[in-house]
Amino acid sequence: MRPGEFDDNISYWAATAPPDTPCAPLCGEVVADVAIIGGGFTGTSTARELLVRRPALGVVLLEARTLGNGASGRNGGQLLNWINGIGSDDPLLTRRVWDATSHGIERVLERARAGNVRWSQRGALELYTDARRAERAHAHADRLNALGIPVRYVSGAELHGLCGAEGVAGGVLDPTGGVLSGVDLLRATRPELIAGGARIYEGTPVTRVHEGELITLDTPQGIVRAKALVLATNAYTHLLGYFRGGVFPLLSHVVSVPMAPGAWGRAGSFSDDMDRISYGAHLDGHMVFGGGSNASYAYRYGGRTGGDLGPAADAAVRRKLGHYFPGAAEPSHRWTGALGITLSRRPSIGRRGNVYWGLGYSGHGVTLANLAGEILADLYTGDGEKWVDLPIVGAPLGWIPPDPFRWVGYHAYTAMTGRSPRRG
Ligand SMILES: Cc1cc2nc3c(=O)[nH]c(=O)nc-3n(C[C@H](O)[C@H](O)[C@H](O)COP(=O)(O)OP(=O)(O)OC[C@H]3O[C@@H](n4cnc5c(N)ncnc54)[C@H](O)[C@@H]3O)c2cc1C
Repeated sequence: MRPGEFDDNISYWAATAPPDTPCAPLCGEVVADVAIIGGGFTGTSTARELLVRRPALGVVLLEARTLGNGASGRNGGQLLNWINGIGSDDPLLTRRVWDATSHGIERVLERARAGNVRWSQRGALELYTDARRAERAHAHADRLNALGIPVRYVSGAELHGLCGAEGVAGGVLDPTGGVLSGVDLLRATRPELIAGGARIYEGTPVTRVHEGELITLDTPQGIVRAKALVLATNAYTHLLGYFRGGVFPLLSHVVSVPMAPGAWGRAGSFSDDMDRISYGAHLDGHMVFGGGSNASYAYRYGGRTGGDLGPAADAAVRRKLGHYFPGAAEPSHRWTGALGITLSRRPSIGRRGNVYWGLGYSGHGVTLANLAGEILADLYTGDGEKWVDLPIVGAPLGWIPPDPFRWVGYHAYTAMTGRSPRRG
């Protein structure tokens, strides 16, 4: 792991959480049944679900910095249904995806309700910026209703009462969508995992993986030997030499602004219909807002994942914020996080021999990376059958060419598509 790969800027969620004491780094050698690299939603949910199924299992979790250092502690907080990269033409598949993700939402909210987590469940809105797209979304919502999926088209005064964003033609409300602080969720999970027998080492970057029947992981002051490995490193996975051509680290800039509930509305969150998606989530009198233009996202040459996107990204996000909420206050916090994107936008959760992975969730990982723990634990215990009809399990990752072609391709693609509405 190269020093400086991890972000130094702090999210609203981390800056406003109570003080926290991370676990000590690994010193010396430990042996485990399963070693998990990464202390985000994928890593912690996998540790938790493994211990639910096999309480005596030796589980070790290694995190380069602290739990929530990655996207899980830096996201927009939206707990959403659906999976990127899976279309909605097949009614059976649509229903299967809905059932899986709404189960995922419920499981996360169960844990949030258990305490010390900021959360709400006031619904998620998809906003449409022109009348024709809104009409199509209306017809689509009706088709989903016919499958028993409780989304609803909203427009006019009702829409404005749900979310005060200006200049939108219509929206589809998913009443089950939630908002939560990933930092709070991860910090609440830490003592639970330790009580369940997991050994967690923070401040412990894995620098090298040696595969074999017994896998060895090198860290700066210690070694882990384990019979199985879980890569829960999402956008950082390529830095360990895995899925270099499969997962693309996309940086995204986010701000948070104080916003009175009256200026926002009754819904929990929204995302818009543009290719460079804008999203906002409201919790406890604050709105977290991100995306919205090419300048607020970036791919860095060489796949670097850390740092701050700087003033141009900040100005771009604030312009978009002002477009939807002309009276919005000055941001109180600003930060950058790394999303893991695949060519098809479809995540992949799978195994090859004794190496397991869950990654590439795009902007839906709050639900999916938490659900990944259940799937990975079932794959590990030989009970993966119940997930085989979900086409992210064992999904092949496409191939994205290496740099410099990747860097040139990213810039050419964003220049062509940055202002356009999303397909579909
Ligand atoms: C700005 C932003 C906004 C988002 N908004 C939303 C949203 O509103 N809703 C939604 O559903 N999704 C959202 N996402 C996506 C979502 O947050 C992620 O998909 C999800 O958190 C991924 O979880 P993870 O555990 O797989 O990865 P991460 O949370 O990135 O965790 C990976 C962890 O691995 C650690 N690590 C990496 N390499 C090593 C190593 N070598 N050794 C030890 N540790 C290592 C990292 O420090 C990190 O903590 C957003 C993402 C970003 C960046």
